[in-house]
Amino acid sequence: MIPRSVTSRLVFFYCLLLVALGGTFLFFTVLSFETYTRQAITDNLAARTDEVWNLSQGLLDQPDKLAPLITRRFAPEVQERFIRIRQGETVLYRSGDPASHDFHAADVPLSASPLHPRASLHGNLLLYTRSFTNEDGTYVIDSGQSFVFARTVQRRLATSLAIGLPILLLAAAIAGYILMRRALTPVEVMINAAESYTFHDPHNRLPLVGAEPRIEALGLALNRMLDRLDQAYTHVNRFSADAAHELRTPLTIIRGELELATNQPRPRAEIERAISNALEEMTRLSGIVDSLLTLSRMGSSWGKHAHASVDLSELARETIEQISLLAEEKQIAISVTPAPPVMVAGDRDRLKQVMVNLIDNAIKYTPAGGSVTVQTGAGGDTAFVAVEDTGIGMGPEQQDRIFDRFYRVSTDRGEEGAGLGLAIVKAICQAHGGSISVRSAPKRGSCFRVELPLQAAPLAGAPDALENRIAAAGAAAATQVQN
Ligand code: ADP
Repeated sequence: MIPRSVTSRLVFFYCLLLVALGGTFLFFTVLSFETYTRQAITDNLAARTDEVWNLSQGLLDQPDKLAPLITRRFAPEVQERFIRIRQGETVLYRSGDPASHDFHAADVPLSASPLHPRASLHGNLLLYTRSFTNEDGTYVIDSGQSFVFARTVQRRLATSLAIGLPILLLAAAIAGYILMRRALTPVEVMINAAESYTFHDPHNRLPLVGAEPRIEALGLALNRMLDRLDQAYTHVNRFSADAAHELRTPLTIIRGELELATNQPRPRAEIERAISNALEEMTRLSGIVDSLLTLSRMGSSWGKHAHASVDLSELARETIEQISLLAEEKQIAISVTPAPPVMVAGDRDRLKQVMVNLIDNAIKYTPAGGSVTVQTGAGGDTAFVAVEDTGIGMGPEQQDRIFDRFYRVSTDRGEEGAGLGLAIVKAICQAHGGSISVRSAPKRGSCFRVELPLQAAPLAGAPDALENRIAAAGAAAATQVQN
């Protein structure tokens, strides 16, 4: 019954409202007209009754003189009026039938003498009755007027309204429909554009030309949402393509080595070498899978148990101690600048992973004879860790991309990793409400600086607030990781 399209629905309810308003208007107009005309005629009759009484003073006992006087003064028959003077049941004067024969004067009932003036309808006659008293007794004067004319006007008014209102209603409905269609056209256009949106052509946006400001605001908001979806989709696409590519290489090598070892009879040494190569690739493969898992888990569960107080200075010293063997092997001088405790709230293991990745990279990309320095400290409400090396460095274009997943500057620099280390570092920093930046120049070295919110008071003081902050950071990291 109720139409489905927005335009027809709005017009339907708009018409329903107009019908209700029109009906109420018609009813009250006709009712007030009747009340008003009846009141006006009654007032007129009351005035005439007083005049009749004044005129008839001194002649009430001489009906033959009274009749011509009233006829001359009021001409009731001609004016379709009725006048009657009586004392008890005795009628002293009564006018005749009116020219229009709207009522019969003889049939007008004789009511009892009223205490108060009274108006009542008798067929087509509106009758006003009032008692007057003088020294000769009580007289009743009935003064009436035909109500036919008033009724006719009232009927015509009702008919005109009953015909005019539906016409008005129809015109309003048509105009409303046209206006609404015009106002909703941009919405229809946006619906069609949204229906035809696909990820094959992700740069399509909703058209906004000529839209009403609020609809335009909606379109803009949806377009911004599409931008974000587009970006996320591109990232996810690139991420899966990169992941597949990175996983395929070690798998191909493993398959090749194992086929080599099993296809034909081969010397034991060769088989051992093939298996050892396959094992090496498998270790690399499981490293990549672990890194991917770390990235994807960061947002989901990490925030819930990341609520320890961690001293970055102590963590840096510990990491350097453990990793110094690696530096010695490459003849790189590694040191940590002595610093007082720098407390942050977070997950100790993850923060250690940040330091290990950064120091490991610094050693990896610094030639023998170079140096790596780790510094911790605090400024304002920020704690920082800086890892500086005198290594190969990199250009500005590379600096923008090294935090992307699977990005490596170039393989001819002897880079072995999967390009996930810095992406993990960045995700951990962001999950802690912090950030990472790099300053670097080719052949002069790099400095990676991690900044984290400094922990103002021991954690026990405000565990809930901290957990909330870390959980929020975890959620933000999840978004970032999905991007
Ligand atoms: P990987 O595991 O391949 O090292 P990362 O995400 O840790 O991946 O690093 C990405 C790229 O950033 C590396 O391939 C390397 O080219 C560059 N890089 C990282 N750290 C340094 C550094 N200290 N000096 C020069 N280049 C670096």
